[in-house]
Amino acid sequence: MSGVVVVLERVPGGIASVCGEAAGAARALAGGGPVVGLLVGPGDSTAATELAVDKVLTADGPEFEHPSTAQLGALAAAAADAAPATTILFPGTARGRDGVGRTAIRWGASAATSVTEVTRDESGSLHVRRPVFGGRATEELELPGPRHVLSLKPHAFPLPPARSPPASSEPLAIPDSPKSSRPVEVTGFTPTAGGKGPELGDASIVVSGGRGLRSPENFGLVEELAESLGAAVGASRAVTDAGWRPGSYQVGQTGRAVSPQLYIALGISGAIQHIVGMVSSRVIVAVNSDPHAPIFQVADYGIVGDALQIVPALTREVRKARGL
Ligand SMILES: Cc1cc2nc3c(=O)[nH]c(=O)nc-3n(C[C@H](O)[C@H](O)[C@H](O)COP(=O)(O)OP(=O)(O)OC[C@H]3O[C@@H](n4cnc5c(N)ncnc54)[C@H](O)[C@@H]3O)c2cc1C
Repeated sequence: MSGVVVVLERVPGGIASVCGEAAGAARALAGGGPVVGLLVGPGDSTAATELAVDKVLTADGPEFEHPSTAQLGALAAAAADAAPATTILFPGTARGRDGVGRTAIRWGASAATSVTEVTRDESGSLHVRRPVFGGRATEELELPGPRHVLSLKPHAFPLPPARSPPASSEPLAIPDSPKSSRPVEVTGFTPTAGGKGPELGDASIVVSGGRGLRSPENFGLVEELAESLGAAVGASRAVTDAGWRPGSYQVGQTGRAVSPQLYIALGISGAIQHIVGMVSSRVIVAVNSDPHAPIFQVADYGIVGDALQIVPALTREVRKARGL
């Protein structure tokens, strides 16, 4: 029986959806031990208390609105000591991956990022699997105990049902150091340009378009399909380099890595630099006019044809099926 702390991440209007999966993974790993959520930053904690956790500890002072990695590590370690817990789980977000190393060093723990499977053996060691080399191989690691810090690959773990009644929430007794440990001063934030839908790295469906769309105006077809599905919009580098859409849309080696439940690639050839950013998606659908396009080698479902004809038809059918 080992307690687990799940570090929860605020997003506008709630909690990053991948935190729910992390709470479910924590429950399975805790083996009956306490599962405690740590919610950092000022704001409402209702959404956090509806996750599969026993209790939520909050650090809601204004100094934690944009916590530095050092602050996050110190708060996570304090929450783990309070829980008590032997494992800290970060969700599969950029901040989550960033938090792992600092927290592990501070807390004296072994660590792994982008974990897709995790079990605990009788000695207290964790056995984890995680994709490496852009998803082309899987690494198996034994992390010796007693303490572990992990980040999880988005969508690798099932989302448990919402908790009812909600968990209790109470303030974390905050050690002195995180209040003052601001080696980096955040002076401002500029939101990245994105589609209207969910955040790219967080979305369970991503619809991406490539040069096969032929013009920035036609790229709107990608956005319409994404909107009908409640999906995030991505793009190949050919699209972002051409200025059709901002660089923040780019999926791939020099863009974002995504692993949604469903990835739809429209007019994208499937260059290796694109593939490494999306190959760990659960189901991949590709539309391309060239039957020999490399994207079909990684696609679960392929449609050979003109995206300019097929995408509007898909959007119509999705809207009809969803009553939109
Ligand atoms: C160091 C480096 C890093 C890179 N990083 C990235 C990265 O992070 N992400 C990334 O995406 N790329 C990256 N690239 C670029 C990558 O190599 C490819 O050039 C790029 O992915 C190609 O984009 P594309 O598939 O949209 O365009 P293209 O390769 O031009 O492919 C367009 C596809 O559309 C199809 N098509 C054409 N017309 C239609 C139609 N009407 N309907 C349907 N299909 C149609 C074509 O058959 C073709 O397969 C990188 C390259 C380098 C050298």
